[in-house]
Amino acid sequence: TERTLVLVKPDGVSRGLTGEVISRIERKGLKLVALELRTVDRALAEQHYAEHDGRPFFESLLEFITSGPLVAAVVEGPRAIAAFRQLAGGTDPVEKATPGTIRGDFALETQFNLVHGSDSTESAAREIKLWFPDL
Ligand code: ATP
Repeated sequence: TERTLVLVKPDGVSRGLTGEVISRIERKGLKLVALELRTVDRALAEQHYAEHDGRPFFESLLEFITSGPLVAAVVEGPRAIAAFRQLAGGTDPVEKATPGTIRGDFALETQFNLVHGSDSTESAAREIKLWFPDL
């Protein structure tokens, strides 16, 4: 079994899609082991997105992710990392995510793509420690 960090980003929370995302996670058979609504400060946002430091969209990404409450969760199950990324769909909600995925069904713009899921065992470990240090 494996754990992954999932975020319902501020666009997902403000659009009332938290339940939809959690429902899809649960229907897939994955299990929630932590779940919290929180507003993140810039320091946490910078650490979370450290790999994107220097990219042209970095500033607006930080602004967006700190703009309002988000939902952070730790999700567990066999191949949970790949399983959630399959549920989420590709980063670009129109060009990459297909219908039937969270982004393919509900998003239009790359920045406002509703959810985050860790992309490897290394980033999952790093991100879970960052968001849920007591877990
Ligand atoms: P996440 O890490 O959020 O799961 P991802 O792994 O699909 O997304 P990354 O390439 O790691 O995509 O990008 C992280 C986030 O940065 C994206 O989810 C998106 O919100 C934002 N982002 C990525 N590329 C762009 C871009 N070209 N323009 C604006 N925002 C972008």
